[in-house]
Amino acid sequence: MNKITIAIDGYSSCGKSTMAKDLAKEIGYIYIDSGAMYRCVTLFALKNNIFKGNEIDSERLKGLLDSIKISFILDEQSKKPLTCLNGVVVEDKIRSMEVSSHVSPIATLAFVREELVRQQQQMGKEKGIVMDGRDIGTVVFPDAELKIFVTASPEIRAQRRYDELKEKNQEASFDEILKNVIERDYIDEHREVSPLRKADDAIVLDNSNITIEQQKEWLLNKYKEVAKV
Ligand code: C5P
Repeated sequence: MNKITIAIDGYSSCGKSTMAKDLAKEIGYIYIDSGAMYRCVTLFALKNNIFKGNEIDSERLKGLLDSIKISFILDEQSKKPLTCLNGVVVEDKIRSMEVSSHVSPIATLAFVREELVRQQQQMGKEKGIVMDGRDIGTVVFPDAELKIFVTASPEIRAQRRYDELKEKNQEASFDEILKNVIERDYIDEHREVSPLRKADDAIVLDNSNITIEQQKEWLLNKYKEVAKV
């Protein structure tokens, strides 16, 4: 059976990861959360005092880039992938508000994007991969056979992220999350290098008013159509 490449892009907190992860599990593909990789670089930058107020010491980050090793392991219990930074599981740490509010400026840096895109393309060279992010269908895998662009209203997305953090007993304020979602959308859409935009051949999914189950079925059907299985 021919394996394909599936690119899922879209706005912050619109459930891309959930749908990408579920699909990958269902069809036996590798799942990669590219946002987690930008979050790891951000966590590293925070830990190593690379932020000076709102400024980033990009020369220092560039010099340290080789010492940032990102990997994914499968949690035996939950069967969910866990993100590791230099061999340590940082899955919860990279989802904190502190990382969320610093990640988009890090993701504007061309040298960071170049390196992460190179690693992502390497992970997908055998196909059979579902990757979610902002530039997967446009830059990382422009030849992906199936491209989805997901969107939902900022309020609905903020509510989802709020529920997610609450579930993990993490600090959360709805207003702060909404502000962060809107800010990240703006930075992601207006950055010079690989701005967030829909690939011309991507299918749009607005999931504001559909359930996770409906979304799952919709995506599985799209996969079956394209992969002809
Ligand atoms: O997907 P997630 O919200 O975890 O991504 C965190 C941030 O990483 C995004 O707000 C965006 O700035 C950046 N990102 C990116 N390109 C990707 C994935 C994420 O610029 N492919």
